[in-house]
Amino acid sequence: MTGIRLENVTKRFKTTVAVDDVSLQIPDGEFLVILGASGSGKSTILRLIAGLEVQTSGHVYIGDMLVDDYEPRDRNIAMVFQSYALYPHLTVYNNIAFGLKVRRVEKGEIDRRVKSTAQLLGIDDTLDRRPSELSGGQRQRVALARAIVRDPEAFLLDEPLSNLDAKIRSSARVELKRLHQQLKQTFVFVTHDQSEAMTLGDRLAIVHHGKLLQCDTPEQVLSRPANRYVASFVGSPEMVFLEGNVASTGSGFSFVSGPVVIPIRGESRVGPVTIGLRPWDVAVGRTPQPGSLPGRVTGVERLGPSDHLFVDVHGAGGPPTPTAAVRALVRAYEYDIGDSVWVAFDPDRALFFDAQGERLDSMSVLPRRS
Ligand code: ADP
Ligand code: MG
Repeated sequence: MTGIRLENVTKRFKTTVAVDDVSLQIPDGEFLVILGASGSGKSTILRLIAGLEVQTSGHVYIGDMLVDDYEPRDRNIAMVFQSYALYPHLTVYNNIAFGLKVRRVEKGEIDRRVKSTAQLLGIDDTLDRRPSELSGGQRQRVALARAIVRDPEAFLLDEPLSNLDAKIRSSARVELKRLHQQLKQTFVFVTHDQSEAMTLGDRLAIVHHGKLLQCDTPEQVLSRPANRYVASFVGSPEMVFLEGNVASTGSGFSFVSGPVVIPIRGESRVGPVTIGLRPWDVAVGRTPQPGSLPGRVTGVERLGPSDHLFVDVHGAGGPPTPTAAVRALVRAYEYDIGDSVWVAFDPDRALFFDAQGERLDSMSVLPRRS
């Protein structure tokens, strides 16, 4: 059991900067998820930890050991790939045993470890089969078993659930989480799927163009995203953005976006600002409430227990245009397209972003006077 640390790690491939000055500390036993779009540098970060790539600059530590000059086999870390990379001509038993045989582990010991690991993963009845005779979910478990049986210091998992169909994938998530709780070892798990990241990660490391944008708990990433990219990448349904300006109004300042005027406090800077709201922090009702704005439902997405509502907001008492588009989560089947509604925001939950997309911690919505 051991933690992992990256210190100002950069990896260049000719002109591509795949990993850009990433510093990251993964405590012993953590389930860290590296989340990012395709090509953002996730796999390269894993390969640098495993020693399958060598960084252009910076340092990698496993435990307290600086491992920059260590070969992959000397890092005692197990990697599970999206493709599983099983040997097709070997039985499940021999696939799992392979790494131990290479290390010349004693035969009885191999047998004990293969069988107990297979049992742990519920594949002990498939040991005589070849990979081609297994389902996708079983193959994925064989790949995991092969990693676990080696008793490594840490596990690196590169989109191991991506090849499973949606139904198995969600149960595989639950299993993987349970496995982590049993093994209590460090897991670094790569995915481009934000819901997978949210369910699995103790913390999420969000990468974009090789840069680490934020590393935080799922709750923090949702409620305090570092910038607009993180805010829109994480959370489902997606965050709503109101593009607007800060304008002087009377004694103070307001955020103005079309018909939406929201008194704010904070910086006196006047200029373009974006407000971000989670759809579940937007309230929709049939009757006006203090501070709510009239709108019309333009779309409904049925999600099951709740609906995702698309609403055009009009100015209070003004002409129907211009409008601002917002989204809300509401109880299923309560609203339909064309319904007239009143929309209110939870002022404490509104996030502010500057023109560069960075979150402005100093700005907030003024509490409403009732
Ligand atoms: P991800 O896993 O997030 O999809 P990768 O880490 O695989 O992203 O790739 C990050 C960037 O580095 C991409 O632009 C990719 O094309 C580039 N890259 C990765 N590996 C190599 C390589 N061996 N040679 C050249 N470019 C590479
Ligand atoms: Mg990848």
